[in-house]
Amino acid sequence: MTQTVPLLIGGEMIQSESRNLIPVTDPATQAVIAQVPCATEAEVDRAVASAKAAFESWKETPVSERARLMLRYQALLKDNHDEIATILAKETGKTFEDARGDVWRGIEVVEHACNIASLSMGETVENVARKIDCYSYTQPLGVCAGITPFNFPAMIPLWMFPMAIACGNTFVLKPSEQDPLTPMRLAELFREAGAPDGLLQVIHGGKEQVDQLLHHPDIPAISFVGSVAVGEHIYRTGTDNMKRVQAFAGAKNHMVIMPDAQKQQVINNLVGASVGAGGQRCMAISVAVFVGESRKWIPELREAMAQVRPGLWNDPEAGYGPLINPQAKERVLRFIQEGKEAGAECLLDGSECVVPDAPDGNWVGPTLFTRVTPEMSIYREEIFGPVLVAIEAETLDEAIRLINENPYGNGTSIFTASGAAARKYQHEIQVGQVGINVPVPVPLPFFSFTGWRKSFYGDQHAYGKQAVKFYTETKTVTARWFEDDIASGPNMTIALK
Ligand code: NAD
Repeated sequence: MTQTVPLLIGGEMIQSESRNLIPVTDPATQAVIAQVPCATEAEVDRAVASAKAAFESWKETPVSERARLMLRYQALLKDNHDEIATILAKETGKTFEDARGDVWRGIEVVEHACNIASLSMGETVENVARKIDCYSYTQPLGVCAGITPFNFPAMIPLWMFPMAIACGNTFVLKPSEQDPLTPMRLAELFREAGAPDGLLQVIHGGKEQVDQLLHHPDIPAISFVGSVAVGEHIYRTGTDNMKRVQAFAGAKNHMVIMPDAQKQQVINNLVGASVGAGGQRCMAISVAVFVGESRKWIPELREAMAQVRPGLWNDPEAGYGPLINPQAKERVLRFIQEGKEAGAECLLDGSECVVPDAPDGNWVGPTLFTRVTPEMSIYREEIFGPVLVAIEAETLDEAIRLINENPYGNGTSIFTASGAAARKYQHEIQVGQVGINVPVPVPLPFFSFTGWRKSFYGDQHAYGKQAVKFYTETKTVTARWFEDDIASGPNMTIALK
């Protein structure tokens, strides 16, 4: 018997009454490891109602107590780091070390949430007019909701609910139905850390449950991370229902390789950034732009990529795991085929990849294309697999133009020994997260995760100071305390007197 994943409502792990169950499968074997229920309409309503009720007392809870909950939570996450990573690796297929990294990058956000007192400080100016002071507070919004993707089942839920809750809100999480066991373990540990009942609810399902959240009158704010098509739907529907929405979407991230870069650094970093996690990272490098003479390193890049092989989560020699499901594998194979048909040269082809210990897994080997042009689907679309396309440019200006014309703007990097080239690149590139000799520039949580253009819809980003802005309202107070002076009659103007 496989387990049916519970819902977390009102502080209790409960079994859903839904008969609509989705299997959670091991992507290396297709074995069903759990069933996840699509919560009923009444259950989603109960989750929101419970979060709404809990908000009444949580919003009055002193900020230092909220911070202490986060301190206990980060300690528990650290104590259970390996156990969470094991659950995560088994349901996503990620290698154990990569799974630990997924959890770790989430723990860092919880550490950031521990600083909520200083993060939520307002502003004050004394004597804005005679004997009048002005100051601002940040106050929580109410029930916030988060919808998360499959590819970081620890990190991305942890981008959301710790910051929202530290700000004084309560939260309804709808994690990916493809790997719900990790977020459920995170939720259990949050309760163990002493979270009052109703602070965090977890409901499961897909479009129907998400749409109910998007239309729910008691939810003022929605955070989403996932694909472009769903992100656009979430942003449009959420804002149409007068909610504030932050929607992080897909990507096509370029690495520019200047001829003065250090060759071995380029190759090592490019291999890890392109095929690590099977390319299933929104910050994966999927396009390498070789400027000038650096193009002659492509054969060595091919050799280095060919050394990497996918494997089981607990195989220490495996470079990465399987793709999340058979449809994802089919989609990647379709892109590889389209690339060949469009005239790109497939220098390394992972379509026939086999892992003898797990013949039914969703394996795709490292794949490298050259002679790629911007009209080809392998350049235009997010493939989300271990496929790297190489493009050649004569100058840095040409590389910058290419990237700025691409609709996505999540992450990019430049490898160079020239400060002037790096400075020009960081200034002119229309991408929200830039690495200089750093291939995957995911910011630490005291900054924000700042995707641009088609990779993000909204204005306030995840974590950093922007998360506090997203999850709070600012209240500005203008105050005068009368001494014994008598007011000199009514003030008939807008000016403060
Ligand atoms: P997805 O869009 O299929 O699913 C994301 C979430 O939306 C899931 O919880 C899912 O249940 C829900 N959902 C799916 N279809 C829906 C619909 N029609 N209406 C409402 N909700 C729906 O994404 P995924 O495949 O789980 O994740 C991979 C995608 O996420 C990639 O495109 C990747 O680039 C993106 N991603 C972006 C970032 C970022 O920060 N920009 C980070 C991680 C992943």
